[in-house]
Amino acid sequence: MNLLKGTGLNQIRGIVFDLDGTLVSSSLDFNQIRLDLDCPPGEDVLTFVEALSPQERAKAEAIIHQHEVDDAEQSEWLPGAKAFVDQCLEIGVPLAILTRNSEFASKKKISKNNIPISLLFTRENSLPKPDPSALNEIAKLFSLPNHSIMMVGDYKYDLEAGRNAKMSTCLVNCEGEPDYLHLADHRYSSFIHLHEAFFNER
Ligand SMILES: [Mg+2]
Repeated sequence: MNLLKGTGLNQIRGIVFDLDGTLVSSSLDFNQIRLDLDCPPGEDVLTFVEALSPQERAKAEAIIHQHEVDDAEQSEWLPGAKAFVDQCLEIGVPLAILTRNSEFASKKKISKNNIPISLLFTRENSLPKPDPSALNEIAKLFSLPNHSIMMVGDYKYDLEAGRNAKMSTCLVNCEGEPDYLHLADHRYSSFIHLHEAFFNER
């Protein structure tokens, strides 16, 4: 169900997706990752690793890598996501993926699920969300103004990055009332509902 007024979807000319929990399932257990890393509960894992000594950091990165590879092997398209992506491509909407995941695990997910999106920004070639610089770069590559692009994701960082880049923001695959709901211009419980709204408005 769309809880917010979904206005302005017909203005959208390009879309950037988060990967994990947005296009495909993710069974990454961040609590287990934090335990394995000795990262305090609730702390941002990437920020925590960033602050470690080079030696500790290499060890931590190997732990995260293993979690991500296991997760990539389990990943599946989330309901309605494939149909939405396919139809966007059919009508010529340029698409990109911006993820905090590693390039290795992201490419594994993309190839396992045949995701037909080639423009990929990972934590190796971009600053992590909520930093907007990758989104600004994507807008240039799309040759579109930022405000005509929508950032679609399942979590706070996706919405914050979209807001920081002055793009439209869309929360998907999210039930209930998360405390970052106010950052979403559009909100759908799944791609099935986003699909209806997006293509009905064209
Ligand atoms: Mg996500």
